[in-house]
Amino acid sequence: MIDFEIPEEYKQLGLRYRKFVEDYCVPAEAQVRTRPLKEILKELHAQAKADALWCPHMPEEWGGLGLGPLGMAVVQYELGGSPLGDLAVNTQGSDDATMLTIARYGTQAQKEKYLIPLVNGDARVCYSMTERAAGGDATGLQTTAVRDGDSWVLNGEKWFTSLGNIADFALVLAKTNPENPRHEQFSGFLVDLPNPAYEIVRNIPTMGRDEKHYEEFGGHCEVKIDNLVLPADAILGEPGQGFALGQHRLGYGRLRHGMRNIGLAQKALDLAVEHATQRVTFGQPVADRQGIQFMLAECAAEIYKARLMVLHLAFKMEKGMDLRQENSIAKIFLPHMVHKVVDTALQLHGALGYTHDTPLAEWYTGIRAQRLVDGPDEVHKWRVGRNVVKAFEASGTTAAACGGDLFY
Ligand SMILES: Cc1cc2nc3c(=O)[nH]c(=O)nc-3n(C[C@H](O)[C@H](O)[C@H](O)COP(=O)(O)OP(=O)(O)OC[C@H]3O[C@@H](n4cnc5c(N)ncnc54)[C@H](O)[C@@H]3O)c2cc1C
Repeated sequence: MIDFEIPEEYKQLGLRYRKFVEDYCVPAEAQVRTRPLKEILKELHAQAKADALWCPHMPEEWGGLGLGPLGMAVVQYELGGSPLGDLAVNTQGSDDATMLTIARYGTQAQKEKYLIPLVNGDARVCYSMTERAAGGDATGLQTTAVRDGDSWVLNGEKWFTSLGNIADFALVLAKTNPENPRHEQFSGFLVDLPNPAYEIVRNIPTMGRDEKHYEEFGGHCEVKIDNLVLPADAILGEPGQGFALGQHRLGYGRLRHGMRNIGLAQKALDLAVEHATQRVTFGQPVADRQGIQFMLAECAAEIYKARLMVLHLAFKMEKGMDLRQENSIAKIFLPHMVHKVVDTALQLHGALGYTHDTPLAEWYTGIRAQRLVDGPDEVHKWRVGRNVVKAFEASGTTAAACGGDLFY
């Protein structure tokens, strides 16, 4: 089942976010290479707070707008219109998801120490799970946390901890209960940064980014954890609950990425058509060629499919329905969708698309990581395929694994 009606209040709110993005975030993009990001964000934060657009994902008791999945889907779509959109209103990953995690699992003291500065935009957090030893299969993580009297002592290494070099604290996953079943061996720890025992070895050089970008937006860090001593109350939730901490944010994260991707893809297609209708080659505007129109048609179909997919996810989340299958399908589809549209837009711009005179090259390199982060394509396909077989075995049809509940 799905109800396609978007409540009027969300439409109005979406339009307010659109105006905010157009009036403040898009103009600020041009300043990113010439002014410190911190200064730019300070101004955007003040404006977002003044316009009552701050922290839409957080409950009102924590100073947010308390939006549910559908409201957030609308908002994230509008924020996708600028790479500064999420940062401007404090819904950027991994801060936003960690805010929700601490709100749900944190003690009162942890909420006061970590959640309040995060919600106020005064702190940033990094999520330190992946290691060289393991990523897609996180049960292979090697970092250990051993209880020593009133303390925990952590040892190991981390790899690809985004924002590690600019974060004020980290949420670190470490093995605490090796005797437990595979998914209950790990726990999450809150670690104040900087800390000499949590050493940022380097910002790992990655596609299309330079050191200036890492310094301002945060790098993907290699970290050495060497006898990091933490108080007993640094643990978030219960021992063995480390993976469970992440489960409730999966649907939220998908909506966030999904809608932003749709916003970005829409913008890329707009740029493509703007250029292709103006650029004349061999006596005709590029957009008049049927081959080009086919390319635009494919992009339109991709964006349309993505909108429907994410709205269905939001609907299921609102109703508290099981969305694991749709969630994985969306995780595979959406990064490919945005990649295809941005790639097409870049292509239609010719050499101009390869420059930094349009935002397309920046978007192109940025979005490639999405097919790896949060579970690579193949891991999600593996899950989706298994569910297809299971659905057939259970009912003699695979419909339940391919959106069959849309009708009944
Ligand atoms: C830009 C970026 C930012 C990141 N930020 C963070 C962060 O902030 N915090 C954090 O903890 N981690 C972060 N990561 C790490 C990310 O979550 C992992 O890279 C991801 O989970 C994949 O793990 P892996 O790199 O170890 O790949 P592996 O698990 O080693 O997989 C390698 C490849 O093998 C294939 N494969 C793996 N398993 C299967 C299977 N079952 N079936 C078929 N094929 C398979 C896939 O093609 C996969 O891409 C980030 C990564 C990137 C690129």
